[in-house]
Amino acid sequence: MPQQSKKSGYISIVGKTNVGKSTLLNEILGQKISITSRKPQTTRHRLLGVKTIKDSQMIFIDTPGFHKNYKRALNRYMNKVASNAMTGVDVLIYVIDSLEWTKEDQDITNKMIDGYRNSILAINKIDKIKNKEELLPFIESISKLKKFSDIIPISALKNQNILSLIDSILIKLPGGNHVYPEDQVADISEKFLASEIIREKCITRVGDELPYRISVSIDKFKEENKVTHIDATLFVEKKSQKGMLIGSSGSKLKSIGTASRLELEDIYETKVMLNLWVKVKSGWTDDEAMLSTMGYDLGKSS
Ligand code: GDP
Ligand code: MG
Repeated sequence: MPQQSKKSGYISIVGKTNVGKSTLLNEILGQKISITSRKPQTTRHRLLGVKTIKDSQMIFIDTPGFHKNYKRALNRYMNKVASNAMTGVDVLIYVIDSLEWTKEDQDITNKMIDGYRNSILAINKIDKIKNKEELLPFIESISKLKKFSDIIPISALKNQNILSLIDSILIKLPGGNHVYPEDQVADISEKFLASEIIREKCITRVGDELPYRISVSIDKFKEENKVTHIDATLFVEKKSQKGMLIGSSGSKLKSIGTASRLELEDIYETKVMLNLWVKVKSGWTDDEAMLSTMGYDLGKSS
């Protein structure tokens, strides 16, 4: 029998919001897992995506970005998830938006990457960089920081140089048996995926008025005879937001429902019966107890 040389490892994708982490993850996995949006802070949960290439299994953790506003419970939750993702991983990909290296990036990497040999800087959105000659001096200045073992310019959106990034990850993976079956892409539950897709449709359809204070709870999820029945409640903070989400004579909610249903049918490969409700939960982003009843684990003490 030939010698087995399996590799397997955890990879986290970290960086400020809106730099393209979810887009990158989706691009690598080749399948929609984590929602993306033009608005920041759409990713609240830590997600796992799995990609197996021959003998190597990469288990990806997508994380929310880091936020300056520590006041709200929701932000505290997101920061906690993000910093947990920096420890106990085998490879860390730090993503930035083109040539923007800010004080915040400096602070985060100073705090989190302490002589981290398996860290990669992904300079994303290179398609946006007009003067390509700026790239090389930028890479040189970052490499002087000695935080990253590789610096790779990519475009997640335009699928540029993603294979170099994957190669750089594969080289860093430790040996080990695979954790997931080879055809597995993600281990997030179907229920969670449904709530993320519905939330994404709300965000894209309601425009700027409802930033991210919307939460979706799945009250029923049942597949029967090739039909998936889903009941979901959309929680908003204010009565006015409820009105916006419903729209005049229910038009907005109807369009959110239709778009969600079509995408879910595509993913589950069944018909989908979707019922949506909108409820006001005043101040839920401030209330930790209420957050945990909606499935956010805030941990024991702070
Ligand atoms: P996240 O908050 O870091 O997860 O960022 P998202 O993946 O949600 O992306 C934020 C925005 O940046 C979206 O509008 C993406 O389409 C856009 N974006 C992501 N990658 C690229 C890229 O390579 N080039 C350009 N031009 N835009 C990108
Ligand atoms: Mg994201």
